[in-house]
Amino acid sequence: MHASLALAAEPQTNPSAGAQQITRAGDQASMAGPAEYFTGRTRIDPIWSADKNINASGGLVTFEPGARSAWHTHPAGQRRVVTSGVGLTQEWGKPVQVIRPGDVAWCPPVVKHWHGAAPDAAMTHLAVTGTVDSKNVTWMEKVTDEHYKAR
Ligand code: MN
Repeated sequence: MHASLALAAEPQTNPSAGAQQITRAGDQASMAGPAEYFTGRTRIDPIWSADKNINASGGLVTFEPGARSAWHTHPAGQRRVVTSGVGLTQEWGKPVQVIRPGDVAWCPPVVKHWHGAAPDAAMTHLAVTGTVDSKNVTWMEKVTDEHYKAR
């Protein structure tokens, strides 16, 4: 049998899994990045939470020029896709790297790093962060100006 005909014979719904769901834009309020974990002004727009279907959360994070996260790790890693602006990111002990729209960063589990905007340009990225035991980040010290400007 031709492959496409075989596929067409498969069930087209899955009653035990429920129906497709659409979450509407604006249903989840924007929030400021907490001052204890971010330097400068940041805005977090939650998109989805980790659940039984996909064990990772998604969020858009917007950093104003000069704004950045504190140093931190993720227990199950994090993928970030830059959607606008110009950003910076650094892994502990390694050089600061410039990231631009379309660039995708993968940070493995428990690797210390930070991410944020360039000094003179804002940056927004989609962050997809894996979860272990309901936790997706371990926060550490703030990124000093010396570290931020070291490139
Ligand atoms: Mn991160």
